[in-house]
Amino acid sequence: MTPFPLPPRSAIGILGGGQLGRMLALAAARLGFDAVVLGPEADSPAGRVAARQIVGAFDDPLALKQLSQAASVITFEFENVPASTLERLAAYGVAIAPGSRALAVSQDRVEEKTFLNAAGVATVAFQAVNSAEDAALAAARLGTPALLKTRREGYDGKGQVWIEHAAKAAAAFESLGGVACILEAAAPFERELSVIAARGRDGEIVLYPLGENHHENGVLRRTNAPARITPQIAEHAERIAHQVLNGLDYVGVMGIELFEVGGGVLLVNELAPRVHNTGHWTQDGCEVDQFEQHIRAIAGWPLGPTDAIRRVEMINLLGAEADDWLALASEPEGRLHLYGKYGAAPGRKMGHINRVHSV
Ligand code: AMP
Repeated sequence: MTPFPLPPRSAIGILGGGQLGRMLALAAARLGFDAVVLGPEADSPAGRVAARQIVGAFDDPLALKQLSQAASVITFEFENVPASTLERLAAYGVAIAPGSRALAVSQDRVEEKTFLNAAGVATVAFQAVNSAEDAALAAARLGTPALLKTRREGYDGKGQVWIEHAAKAAAAFESLGGVACILEAAAPFERELSVIAARGRDGEIVLYPLGENHHENGVLRRTNAPARITPQIAEHAERIAHQVLNGLDYVGVMGIELFEVGGGVLLVNELAPRVHNTGHWTQDGCEVDQFEQHIRAIAGWPLGPTDAIRRVEMINLLGAEADDWLALASEPEGRLHLYGKYGAAPGRKMGHINRVHSV
């Protein structure tokens, strides 16, 4: 059993070498930990700032063994970690946070909504869809428009198709490759909000102020935080975070995507059992950002304050937008965060800028 709290100079394992892993590794280093990053890429954004990098696939037994021997606790920067990876790491006896239940729930949209509803958290109406026939029946039951999504491995709006008429449901199912899907009723939302929450090893829960999010083509474009919200919304978000994090016996930071549907009512769209793009504003808006908070939580340290000390507009820099780094770095109110990626493919997240204003 790993003794918590972990003392400085302990090693923290991170599965995944992208920008979230990079910012986690930087936060870990600031608290005196060594980050050990495992990912398939030799020169990854996270690997280049970590104390140590293990290059290997997420199901490579040797790489996983090395990671479990090197690290006192292992976390991840993406939720689609194969279940076999977690089982193997658990068999090596290393602590993993968040735990396998949170991952399993968030990997499957039907499991996720079933868990949420059972925990007393509202979502849109939904139905599991396993065949073209199911799709037509579900569309007839839920009404159209409705959104068909693959149950697993969707992200940034991929693996989703709107069904405008029940007659088109079967074709929509085939267009997603005939894999297991979920049909969701359309959320009549006024705004998309998110809450970044953290739960410590002692069960303490903290929430950052909510962010208001704007997407383009299924990808997050910007977050404005703290969002202007009513006390009812703040209270509702707090209740949701407690139900979800306690319900999963969660340790670490979680991003909870919300639909505000009016009248102080929130529906949960999606859970991300990790640091989240809509929480990047905390880097320049709060004393302790979501990355440090996650490291504190999984290391068994006390959680840090979450109040906003600045108002922030976070803009994702996609593809060639990051080429304007010199102009962006010249903005007095801009705090530039670049991920050190080599290929600026269109739409790829290359960095973000936090434009700060006094609260
Ligand atoms: P997701 O991949 O589930 O986060 O969905 C990506 C985006 O699609 C969300 O941020 C919403 O803008 C939109 N969306 C997802 N689910 C629904 C829904 N049931 N009703 C309306 N819009 C949705």
